[in-house]
Formats: sequence, structure tokens, C-alpha cells
Amino acid sequence: MSMDIIPVGRRRAWPPRVTEATRPFWGALALGRMTTTRCDNCARYTFPPKPICPHCWSSKLAWTDLGGRGMLYSRTVIHAPPKVFEGVGPLHVGIVDLDEGVRICCGLLEDDAPIPLDSRVELVTLLYADGPLFSARRQVSAREASGAHTQTR
Ligand SMILES: [Zn+2]
Repeated sequence: MSMDIIPVGRRRAWPPRVTEATRPFWGALALGRMTTTRCDNCARYTFPPKPICPHCWSSKLAWTDLGGRGMLYSRTVIHAPPKVFEGVGPLHVGIVDLDEGVRICCGLLEDDAPIPLDSRVELVTLLYADGPLFSARRQVSAREASGAHTQTR
């Protein structure tokens, strides 16, 4: 499933470190695909992507697409972010349990009202001038039902 790609007209405040092991992830994310590695031996996912399975130590991992949907497990708002994030805060951050069982931390795109815990959320690609990041927002079907709008922070 491909995710919406939302252009952001500035550079990322804290660009991720891209390694040979994670380069395919960032390339796919820029195209609206959430991917990670899955172990061919024990069938478990890892996130972030890894060259060795942390569950069974196998090096037989393969890239796989994730659906990009899940439930909001926890959230917070950082009102006094580190200096590098000055001017882009407050930062809305959440922990999302993806449907595949992968738990991730990411920014939240929220309406005026915060996304309630246990809500269905979907990931989007934020395409900054220097590369992509992923973020979560209320799942579109739920948002359309409430008539809400999403702002990009
Ligand atoms: Zn494994």
C-alpha cells in the first residue's frame, strides 16, 4: 500500500543518518512506501531495518513492505525541544503499533484536537527539501467522517 506524500518546503531539522543497511528504506520512503526487514528464518520483523535478526541472529533477512497503518499507543507534545528543532515546535510525537506488530516512534500530524490513544492512524511520507521522514495522522476514513483537516508542522 502506498502512503500519501506531503511536500514540506524546508530541510529536515535533524536529518537521519543513512547507512548502507538503511539506504533502501529511505529510498522507498521517498516514494511513499514503508518498508523494513523481515527474517527468513523466524519470520519476525525488525524496525529499524537491520542486517542481522535481533531475535534469532540469522543474517537471512529480506526487505518487505508494511501496510503503514496501526494504532496510536502513546503520544506527547514537546514544548521545549532541543535547539536544533527551534522554530518547528511544539513537536507532536507518538508511538504507533503497526498492524504487522512493529512498534515505531514518529511525529504526529494532528488537527487542533489531539489524536486519541488507541485511534487508527496511517503513516505518510513528509518529503522535505533534503529527503523524506515518516509521520502518522488519523486514518483517512476516520478523518473524513469527522470532517477534520490536517496541518503539516
Ligand atoms: Zn530471525
